[in-house]
Amino acid sequence: MRYEPTLEFAKAQDEADPLRNYRDRFHFPSLDTPELAYFSGHSLGLQPKAASAAVELELGEWAKYGVEGHFHATNPWYSYHENLTPPMAKIVGAQASEVVCMNSLTTNIHLLFVSFYRPSRERYKIISEAKMFPSDRYLLETQAQFHGFDPDDAIVEIAPREGEWTIRDEDILAAIDANAEQLAMVFFGGVNYFTGQFFDLPALTKAAHAAGAVAGFDLAHAAGNVPLALHDWNIDFAAWCSYKYLNSGPGNVGAIFVHERHASSFDLPRFGGWWGHDKATRFQMNSGFRPMPGAEGWQLSNAPVLGMSVMKASIDIFAEVGMAALREKSEKLTGYLEYTIELLAQEFPDASIGMITPRDPARRGSQISINIGGRERRLFEDMIAEGVIADFREPCIIRIAPAPLYNAFEDVFTFGKVMRKLLAKGER
Ligand SMILES: *Cc1c(COP(=O)(O)O)cnc(C)c1O
Repeated sequence: MRYEPTLEFAKAQDEADPLRNYRDRFHFPSLDTPELAYFSGHSLGLQPKAASAAVELELGEWAKYGVEGHFHATNPWYSYHENLTPPMAKIVGAQASEVVCMNSLTTNIHLLFVSFYRPSRERYKIISEAKMFPSDRYLLETQAQFHGFDPDDAIVEIAPREGEWTIRDEDILAAIDANAEQLAMVFFGGVNYFTGQFFDLPALTKAAHAAGAVAGFDLAHAAGNVPLALHDWNIDFAAWCSYKYLNSGPGNVGAIFVHERHASSFDLPRFGGWWGHDKATRFQMNSGFRPMPGAEGWQLSNAPVLGMSVMKASIDIFAEVGMAALREKSEKLTGYLEYTIELLAQEFPDASIGMITPRDPARRGSQISINIGGRERRLFEDMIAEGVIADFREPCIIRIAPAPLYNAFEDVFTFGKVMRKLLAKGER
C-alpha cells in the first residue's frame, strides 16, 4: 500500500474504511488536551457504548428477581458464562468446547499449570522468552519453586542476540532441540508485550511436541489483535485477559483454551470447584469432584455476571466484525504508523528514532514500539500533554497501538503531527 503524510490522505482512507462506523460505538476519553488520539488499546481498550446498558440490564434483573435471577433473568446467571463462549472461541480460532471465560489471567495460568506443568527430575525445564511480562515471569519462578526446582535452572530464557531487540525463530527452535531431553514445556507470550513481536505459535508448538513437551501460551497481547487458530495449531493450552484489545474494562474476567485432545483427560491433576463439576449433578451438593469435559471443567466459581455483561457487549462486536476484517485494517493502519515513524526518523536524524517491532506485518499485531535516543520519557510526557495517549515501558520504549476497531487513519496523522512539533522543539 502507498501512503502519504497528509490529512487529506488520512481522511480519504477513513472514508473508504469498511469499519469506520465502529469508532462511534466507543467512548473516547475527554481529556483537556489540544488533540485526542488514543493508542493504548494494548493496555486498556476503550469502553464500548453498549457496556452501560448491559450492566444496567443485570442490575435491573437483580433488583427485580433477587436470587431468582439465576434462573429467571433474561440471560440466566447460572449459565451466564456460556453466552461468552461462542464469540470468544471465534476470536481465538477454537471450538466452543475448548474455551471458557473465568477468573483473571495470572490466576488462570496457575490453574492450567496445575494440569500441564507436571515436572519430573528428568523433565522439568520451561523454555520462555527473555523480557517476559513480569507477572508471567513471577508465575514461572514460583511454579518451579513450588515443584522443588531452582528457577534459574528450570527456566530457560531465549533472548534476542546482541544488538537486536526481537528473538529469532531459529534460536528458539535450537534451544528446544538442545534441551529436548529435559524439556517439560514451551511457554511464550503470543505477542511480546514489549517489542510487539508475534511469535510463530504453530512452529513452537510443533517443536515442543517433537521434544515430548507441552506448548502453552499467554495471549494477553494476541487475543483480538492477531489471527489465531489455537485448535488447528494443536496448542495444548492458552490463557488471555479481556481488557486489552478486547475492550472489556479494567481487570475484567479472562479466558482459557484447553485443546480438545485434553477434553476428557480426567486423570490430569486439577484444582476443583463447583462450577467445574458435572453440570447434571452440580446442585446435588455431594462430595466427589467429577470435572465437566472440555475447558469448562477448569472452572471454579459461579459467573461474575456484572463484569461478564460488559465483556459480552464487547466481544459481541468482535464476533460481528470478524478477525479477518479487523486484521486487514490493522495491517494498513499499523503500516501507516510505521510509514509515519520512518518519515519522522528521516526528518529528525539527530533524534535517533528506532523501531524495535518486526517490520514484517505477519510477525506483529497493532503495536509499534519505538525508542528515541534517550528522550523517550520526556517525549512521552509531552505526547500525553498534547493528547496522544500511548504508553511508556522502562527503560526506553514508547508503545503505540492503533486498534482497528476504533482508531482511524486520522489518529495516526495526528500522532505524526504532534511528534513533528515536539521533535522540532528539541530538548526541554
Ligand atoms: C497484561 C498481561 C498480564 C496481566 O495479568 P493479570 O493477571 O490480568 O493482571 C499478564 N501477562 C501478560 C503477558 C500480559 O500482557
